[in-house]
Amino acid sequence: MQLQSYAQGQWVTGNGEPVTLLSAISGKPVATINSDGLDFAGIANYARSIGGPALRELTFHQRAMKLKQLALYLNERKEIFYALSRETGATRSDSWIDIEGGIATLFSFSGKGRREMPNGHVYLDGQPEVLSRKGSFIGQHVYLPLEGVAVHINAFNFPCWGMLEKIAPTLIAGVPVIVKPASQSAYLTELMFRHMIESGIFPEGSLQLICGGVGNLLDNLGCQDAVTFTGSATTGLKLRQHPNLMQNSVRFTMEADSLNASILGPDAGPGTPEFDLYVKEVVREMTTKAGQRCTCIRRAIVPRHYATDVIDAIKARLMKVVVGDPQNEGVTMGALASHDQCIEVAERIGQLSETCELVYDGVDQPGMDQLPSDGAYFAPRLLYCDRPLENTGVHDIEAFGPVSTVIPYESNEQAIKLARLGQGSLVSSIFTYDDEFARQMVIGIGAWHGRILIGNRDCGKESTGHGSALPTLIHGGPGRAGGGQEMGGVRGILHYMQAIALQGSPTTLTRITDCWIEGASRLESEVHPFRKKLTELRIGDSITTGKRKITLEDIEHFAEFSGDKFYAHMDQEAASANPFFEGRVAHGYFIVSAAAGLFVDPAPGPVLANYGLENLRFLTPVNPDDEIQVEFTCKQKIPRENEDYGEVRWDTHVYNQNRELVARYDVLTMVEK
Ligand code: NAP
Repeated sequence: MQLQSYAQGQWVTGNGEPVTLLSAISGKPVATINSDGLDFAGIANYARSIGGPALRELTFHQRAMKLKQLALYLNERKEIFYALSRETGATRSDSWIDIEGGIATLFSFSGKGRREMPNGHVYLDGQPEVLSRKGSFIGQHVYLPLEGVAVHINAFNFPCWGMLEKIAPTLIAGVPVIVKPASQSAYLTELMFRHMIESGIFPEGSLQLICGGVGNLLDNLGCQDAVTFTGSATTGLKLRQHPNLMQNSVRFTMEADSLNASILGPDAGPGTPEFDLYVKEVVREMTTKAGQRCTCIRRAIVPRHYATDVIDAIKARLMKVVVGDPQNEGVTMGALASHDQCIEVAERIGQLSETCELVYDGVDQPGMDQLPSDGAYFAPRLLYCDRPLENTGVHDIEAFGPVSTVIPYESNEQAIKLARLGQGSLVSSIFTYDDEFARQMVIGIGAWHGRILIGNRDCGKESTGHGSALPTLIHGGPGRAGGGQEMGGVRGILHYMQAIALQGSPTTLTRITDCWIEGASRLESEVHPFRKKLTELRIGDSITTGKRKITLEDIEHFAEFSGDKFYAHMDQEAASANPFFEGRVAHGYFIVSAAAGLFVDPAPGPVLANYGLENLRFLTPVNPDDEIQVEFTCKQKIPRENEDYGEVRWDTHVYNQNRELVARYDVLTMVEK
C-alpha cells in the first residue's frame, strides 16, 4: 500500500524514493510513504482560499453538528480501523483509546460547541466593560476565527486520537486543517482520513493530509496560520525556532515529552486501598500502549520506607502482564511501534541504569519466549533510583516504552522537590487519603503541571486514570512538556481564534455581537415579545411592564406560603438591627415571582418553557409599599440546528419607584422557531 496525501482536493502520491513502513507485530511491510514534489504552498493556499471561507460561512453550531455527524460516521466504521491498528502494535484496549477515544473527542467538542457557544459567528468572552461615566462607551472582548490554516503535526503513538483531538477544536473554530501524521503509523491515519473525506461532511478544503515530510510548508505560513506539534522535545525545539514561524508570529503550540510523576502519600502504606490503587495505576501506565504515552508515569515517587513494598507489588503485577500479538487471546501488552523504538528505549534504559538499579528486567516475562523475532516486542522494565537528588538523569531521560523508575522521598518537601525536577510535566498524580497532604502537594507542584489527578478510595473506581487526556480538560504542561495547551473544552477552540477588544457604544456592539448589551437601544413594540416566534424576535425587543406595589400582606402571605420566615421579612426590630435593612423587607424570591407576574404574557404561544435564571443579583431591598416595575429585553437567541425551537435569553431589570435597581438577572426560555 502506497500512502497518499490528500492535497488540493485530490489524492496524490509523492514522486521521491518511498520509505517502507513495517508492522510492529510481524516486521512485514505495511505501507510505503513519501510526499516529495507536493505543492506545499498550494496546499496552504487551498485551505485558506477554499476551506476557510466555506467553514466561516457556517455558524459555530453548524460546524459542531458536522463534527457530530463525522463522529457517527467514523463510529459506524470503527472495526475497519481496529483491524489495521493491530499493525501498530496496539492491543484492542490500546486501540480503543486511539480510535474510540478519538471519536469520543469529536462528540465531546460537538456538545461543548453547541452548549457553550452561540449559534453565530462571533464568540463573546466575558461581560462588557464599562469605560465611561454615563455608559455610552463600553468594551467587550470577542473572538473571531483565524483566516489561515492550522497545520497539525502528530506523534506516532496515537495515529487516530492525535489527529481527531486536534481537528475537533480547529473545525469548530472555523479554521481548515492540514494533518501531518508521524510516518511510522501514518497508514492508520490515512485510512481514517479517507473515510472522513468520503463522508463529504465537511466542506472541500477544510481537511487536507500530508503523508511524509512537510517540505517547505512551514516557510509558507503567515500570521493567520497556526502550527500545533506533538512529538519529541528535540523536534519541537527545532520547529519552534523555525525562522519563518518566528518572523511572522505564527502561533505554535508544542506538546512534548514529559517525565510525569506519581506520588504515593505517607498515609498510603501497604494494606490501604490507596496503595493498591497506586500499584495498579503505575503498572497500567507502564503497559498501556506498551508505555508509549506522553502522559505515562515515568517516576513513581514513594516514601522511602515503602519503596521495597512498592517495588515488590509492582513486580508481582508486572509478572502477570502477557506480551504478544494483540490478536492472541490473553495478551495484555502489545509491541512498541518499531524496531527503532526498541533500540531507542533500550539505549535510554542503559543511560538510566548508570545511576539507577534495574529491579525488574523482564527476562521471564510471560509470552516473550514465544514471539517472532521480527516483531517490535519489548518486556517492561522497572528501575530504582536510590539517590534521586544527586542523580538527575532519572528526571531527564525519557524511555518511551514500558519503563518506570521508583524514587524514594523522605519528607513532603522532598517529594515536591523531586516532582519539580521533571522541569514541567503534562500530568502528575497523588495517591493519598489525606486531603491535607494532597493540598500541600498541589500547592507545591501545581505550577509545574498541566493536570494533577488525586486518587483515593472514594474516586478510584470511577477515575479516568492518570494517563487519560480528556477533551473537557486541558492537556499540556509547562517547560519540558512543551509549554502548550490543547483541548480543555472551549479554551481549545479559542486557540484557533483571534481575541479582539471591541470598543464603542452599547447599541453598535449589540449589533456586532448579536447580544443585547446594557445601555443599547431597546425596541419597545405594541406586540408583547412572548407573542413572537424565535425567527420574528429581534435582539433588543422589549417591554416595560406596569407597576406593582409590594405590601406587608404580600410579604406575610409569601412567608406563610413558602415557609421562608427569615427574621428580615418577619420581625421589624430584628430586621432594623441588620446593617443592610431599615426594617422588614420583601423576599428576593418573591420579587422574582412578582416580576414574572408583571412581564409574563400568559396565553399559549411560541414561548414553550422557562428553564432557569442566570446571574441573579438582589441590589436594593424592597420595603413594604415600594412599587416595582420591570424592563424585559430580548438579549440573545440561540436557535437549535436540529429542533424547531431554540433558547432565548431575556435581560431582566427590576426597578423601584425611585428608579433604583432592585434586581437584575437573565431569564432563560425555550421558544418555537
Ligand atoms: P518526533 O520524532 O518528534 O516526531 C513528531 C512529529 O514531528 C512527526 O509527525 C514527525 O514526522 C514530525 N517531524 C519530525 N521532523 C520534522 C520536521 N523537520 N518538520 C516537520 N515535522 C517534523 O516524535 P515521535 O517519535 O513521533 O513521538 C514520540 C515523542 O512524542 C515522545 O517523546 C513522546 O513523549 C512525545 N509525545 C508527546 C505527546 C504530548 O501530547 N505531549 C503525545 C504523544 C507523544 P515523521 O514521523 O515523518 O518524521
